[in-house]
Amino acid sequence: MPEQNGQSLPSYLNPLEPGPWGSYLQQVDRVAPYLGKLSKWISTLKQPRRTLIVDVPVELDNGTIEHFEGYRVQHSVARGPAKGGIRFHQDVTLSEVMALSAWMSVKTAVVNVPFGGGKGGIRINPKNYSASEIERLTRRYTSEIGCIIGPNTDIPAPDVNTNAQTMAWIMDTYSANTGFTSPGVVTGKPISIGGSLGRVEATGRGLFVVTIAALKDAGINIEGARVAVQGFGNVGGTAANLLAEAGAKVVAVYDHTGVIHHENGINTSKLISHVAQTGGVAGFEGVNSISPDEFWSLPLEVLIPAALEGQINESNANNIKAKMVVEGANGPTTPKADDILHNNGVIVVPDVLANAGGVTVSYFEWVQNNSSFYWTEKEINDRLQPIMHDAYLATAATAKEHNVSLRTAAFISGCSRILEAREIRGLFP
Ligand code: GLU
Repeated sequence: MPEQNGQSLPSYLNPLEPGPWGSYLQQVDRVAPYLGKLSKWISTLKQPRRTLIVDVPVELDNGTIEHFEGYRVQHSVARGPAKGGIRFHQDVTLSEVMALSAWMSVKTAVVNVPFGGGKGGIRINPKNYSASEIERLTRRYTSEIGCIIGPNTDIPAPDVNTNAQTMAWIMDTYSANTGFTSPGVVTGKPISIGGSLGRVEATGRGLFVVTIAALKDAGINIEGARVAVQGFGNVGGTAANLLAEAGAKVVAVYDHTGVIHHENGINTSKLISHVAQTGGVAGFEGVNSISPDEFWSLPLEVLIPAALEGQINESNANNIKAKMVVEGANGPTTPKADDILHNNGVIVVPDVLANAGGVTVSYFEWVQNNSSFYWTEKEINDRLQPIMHDAYLATAATAKEHNVSLRTAAFISGCSRILEAREIRGLFP
């Protein structure tokens, strides 16, 4: 184990340790040479500002008690309140939540919304529990992290396996504990309690805007462009549908129920209804089923990993024949795979840029909650579009200027903004 000041580093600070936090640390190290005098502050990016681990005891429907481990990590509040989702997944670890919170800091800075980065999670497979068990879990977890969240301090949102209903329970529990209704404590809420129009589709819509801009930059026509998507929820499903409407051919979709393929293109709007009814892509008519290995090796213009971290790694990166990977998920490509793709000439549009549409509309939701004045869906989409488009253009220009990948370019701009704020605020005391 490496040492710092003669002391062993905890495993989550060990950059040699595989996993999401190790990947994030490597990404930060790559931008250090481009930060100029701001690099003096880089160590402040290498540890989260605040980490909370909570026990979440839940009485199950059968009367027994089960304990779950929950986390809320605030990586940075230099530019504004911590902001980021909460996920319920059996693989959630502290290292993962730390990395996800750090990627949120970079993401909010890349699109220049006035937030820091945070993330939360509970290690649970929610599919094994009833809706009322999940409600009790959510409310107890909210109470346990209630000491650090709030509309001006740390604002959760949906992430993997959480949704508008989860946010409603969080908002209600937080409000009950504080004694007044606080819509701005979470974003991604139902519309009836202060949610924003367009929020559900926002990540997928932002991904679509960035993909169109990246295709144009690479001289690839959207008409007939072959697209494959891993993950067909709010992000993958919305992006695939918008790309299909714009003329692309969605040839393959991979989710937890299987991989479907059709070389002439899959009807994405019918697939969205099928997934809503059955819970997955399996059983969709008129398509072939292929293996995950075949999915990763398809000849494509655009590959969209929109599921979990580490899906593109050393085992499959060399097989990827897509011209472009656009990251809908957070952290889907490991640093080693990133290098392989770069060497093979595959353009990677990184998560902190590509999936920033969700948090951008979360910002709009928070602004609407703070002013109690609500915008139309058109206003939301019209404001989202230029933010995503301009963030892509700025990132591409930085990549060209320094001759680096789009990921390093996005990290240069994101980390510079965070560290500029850090420097001008100074360290207390
Ligand atoms: N969970 C989403 C993300 O990873 C949204 C976060 C938010 O809106 O705060 O970007």
